Amino acid sequence: MSDKFDVIVVGAGPAGYVAAIRCAQLGFNTACVDKWVDADGKPSLGGTCLNVGCIPSKALLDSSEKVEQASHEFENHGISVGKISVDVPKMIARKDDIVSNLTKGIAGLFKANKVTSLHGHGKLLPGKQVEVSLDGKTQTYSADNIILAVGSEPINIPVAPVDNDIIVDNAGALDINMVPKKLGVIGAGVIGLELGSVWNRLGSEVTILEAMDTFLAPVDKQLSREAQRTFTKVQGLDIKLGAMVTATKVAKKSVKVSYTLKGEEHTETFDKLIVAVGRKASTQGIAADEAGLKLDERGRVDVNDRCETNIAGVYAIGDAVKGPMLAHKGSEEGVFVAEIIAGQKPHMNHDNIPWVIYTHPEIAWVGINEEQAKERGINYKTGFFPFAANGRSLAMNEKGGRVKMIADADTDRVLGVHILGPNASELISEAVLAMEYSASTEDIARTIHAHPTLSEAMHEAALSVDGRALHKVN
Ligand code: FAD
Ligand code: NAD
Repeated sequence: MSDKFDVIVVGAGPAGYVAAIRCAQLGFNTACVDKWVDADGKPSLGGTCLNVGCIPSKALLDSSEKVEQASHEFENHGISVGKISVDVPKMIARKDDIVSNLTKGIAGLFKANKVTSLHGHGKLLPGKQVEVSLDGKTQTYSADNIILAVGSEPINIPVAPVDNDIIVDNAGALDINMVPKKLGVIGAGVIGLELGSVWNRLGSEVTILEAMDTFLAPVDKQLSREAQRTFTKVQGLDIKLGAMVTATKVAKKSVKVSYTLKGEEHTETFDKLIVAVGRKASTQGIAADEAGLKLDERGRVDVNDRCETNIAGVYAIGDAVKGPMLAHKGSEEGVFVAEIIAGQKPHMNHDNIPWVIYTHPEIAWVGINEEQAKERGINYKTGFFPFAANGRSLAMNEKGGRVKMIADADTDRVLGVHILGPNASELISEAVLAMEYSASTEDIARTIHAHPTLSEAMHEAALSVDGRALHKVN
């Protein structure tokens, strides 16, 4: 094998593997270096997303949602199934199978696209070279262009050191093989809520300790308030806002957690504790000092709007750079950079990236929320439609949530769409597409939506901006 490539990508997560495939499609001789190994010590492509992130968490969310439905929903449909029992190891094994299929799928895609897969730790050297090391052996490769897609890792807090036995991070939380009676979670962010929901549905008593006083700060307030009510009052998640963990003490099979809340000291004992307080870029050791790679104040690779680093011909994408830590954002940057390298003029709209939280109901949004519209002094108008008035939603026994639309009051252009409700993850695509084409709410209102569908809630929310929703009083 030659040690010279047109492009070397470091990292095979959703940012890196997509970049590598797109580079290969564009005719570049491409290599992708990745160091990830699975539980058996075998190389596994796909990064955080496929191995310990998006995919395994959604597999468990789906399994646990089925348990929830069988236990509490089937009866409403006139179906009785008797006592439900859950085989957690089987559930975890199903999740592992899905991960294994998908990670092997990336290896297959690399082969089909003639991307050279290099296993080991990649390090950027001066002169657009990458040193790949594995088990004490190193080899150096060079390329005309290098794309750093090294991703992110969980933030650790000294008061709760992760041992992935009793105190676990997101990876450990996906491999718990029996339902903990009492589960503690530090952080009521995306991971805390998704994984807290999984174990809550499977029968754990879940307490979430969140340092901030506000719940889901990035989410539109009207929706976050309704979501908080549903998660706590209906689903029984005990979410303590303004809780500061001060100490943890691990015993043989439990952990004692001390925290302060409203100036008072509290102690609670849990069988497992998940730490989910955010993630940081995995940039340690990715470049030799002499390479001179510039990092920003948060340790991310410093890039401009074209994902170019301070070194000509070296790009960085995904969780390792500024912007939301989302798989689709990283993948899109991968395509964007490959096309820049090919001399094309690609476009990537960083203001139009959808977010989804896969709780039940799901939360999804794109663009600005009402608070941001106020802060920016925008002359705006809003419309909303509740799922309780949507026929398809009621047929599915889904009565909560709403679609909320924010538009410019002068131009009617859609500025943000926020959904709390069934299949919000799928519904949000219509809003993303509308915003990509600078649509007005009238454009959505004049678009025919099939009946009966959840998407009619989007149609009605658009009509409601103009005070003419048909199935609610405006
Ligand atoms: P990563 O996926 O982290 O991949 C980086 C890769 O680079 C890894 O394989 C790593 O081994 C490799 N690497 C790092 N350094 C080196 C080196 N020096 N040499 C060689 N290889 C190296 N996002 C969503 O959009 N939707 C979701 O539903 C979602 N759910 C999530 C659930 C959980 C529990 C977690 C933890 C994250 C979730 N995310 C989700 C976030 C998503 O996983 C990340 O945004 C995404 O994986 C980032 O992609 P990436 O390619 O930038 O980095
Ligand atoms: P997060 O930023 O979503 O949430 C972390 C939460 O922990 C915040 O609410 C923060 O206030 C709180 N916190 C921080 N320090 C704390 C402390 N010492 N004590 C108590 N609370 C504390 O981070 P996360 O949940 O770890 O997820 C990391 C990232 O992974 C997400 O931001 C997202 O980018 C990505 N992710 C995405 C999805 C998805 O798209 N559905 C799912 C999971 C993860």
